[in-house]
Amino acid sequence: MSVESELLEKIRDISRPVRIMHICGTHERTISKYGMRDVLPEEIEVLSGPGCPVCVTPEQEIDRAIALAESGVVITSFGDMMRVPGSNGSLMEARSRGCDVRMVYSIDDAIAIAEKEPEKKVVFFAIGFETTAPTNAAAILRRPPENFSLLLSHKLTIPAMKELIKEIEVDAFVAPGHVCTIIGVHPFEQFAEKGFPIVAAGFESDELLLAILMILEQQKNGTYVVENAYPRAVRDEGNIRAQEMMEQVFETVDSDWRGIGTIRDSGLKIRLEFSKYDAALIYEDAINEKMKDIPYGDPAASLCRCADILKGKEKPDNCPLFAKRCNPANPVGSCMVSQEGMCYNWFRYRGVDNA
Ligand code: SF4
Repeated sequence: MSVESELLEKIRDISRPVRIMHICGTHERTISKYGMRDVLPEEIEVLSGPGCPVCVTPEQEIDRAIALAESGVVITSFGDMMRVPGSNGSLMEARSRGCDVRMVYSIDDAIAIAEKEPEKKVVFFAIGFETTAPTNAAAILRRPPENFSLLLSHKLTIPAMKELIKEIEVDAFVAPGHVCTIIGVHPFEQFAEKGFPIVAAGFESDELLLAILMILEQQKNGTYVVENAYPRAVRDEGNIRAQEMMEQVFETVDSDWRGIGTIRDSGLKIRLEFSKYDAALIYEDAINEKMKDIPYGDPAASLCRCADILKGKEKPDNCPLFAKRCNPANPVGSCMVSQEGMCYNWFRYRGVDNA
């Protein structure tokens, strides 16, 4: 019997009605790819929260990146980010209009462009959670060239979870393994104290099944704690050096999340000491000037259900655009762009006919 079958058998033995939310695009990918929702007992509902970094980046932050590109600055970002629609089109579409928008695999690639082309102003559009923020902090601490800066759109997991539990019915959380490698498990204890079982999980199907089993065991025993089911990567205290670099370079700020709105202290901004790398400050006037010209775009976007999908309140196949007007080749909303997006994964792994 496989490890997965053994875990499933144990899960079925103690199964009970439970709504478990994960907050990680990679977890969603594993769950969708292996059809885990179909093999778990029906009473176990696995919800997808706002854990896909490109999905949660709001329209107005993409608009700002486009505004900067329109003003003549070189915008660099990850491939997925270039396809996410803002209020009126994506960075990719800005590129097709002649803007200098370039795909990079890392911030180091973007810095290399700035070094190679010193006559150009190069901006790295930095997105993601606590997993990517330390790399960007480290890059700033290495003092990149003066023609390089970052347009920051980082999001923080814990403030989003605090907001979610006010609004949605959820019983337990699978904590995101990647984020836990940086911040550790202690920041999640506040949720356990409120009665939510929490288990940090890896990304293989057996690791996720183990996390679900551990959650059910906590519920059965009535003991709500944070457990680490991913000890090969996650230390309870996290990565202290990464935390220190983030603290040194960034400070928390209220931040907008796509579909969710503004969440207190859920984003990062560059500290004043490093403001010469802060594109939002350096190009503030240029951004504001160009933002005036951005019209409100695709009328179909008003039907997009990403807002509810990102809160685990809705399933992609309830969106009227799913697999029709909206598909991975022509995404209307952010959840259809990335391999970590809920709509992308439903399209890819559940099949259009089953949708
Ligand atoms: S299918 Fe497309 S339009 Fe519908 S919710 Fe998903 S991303 Fe938005």
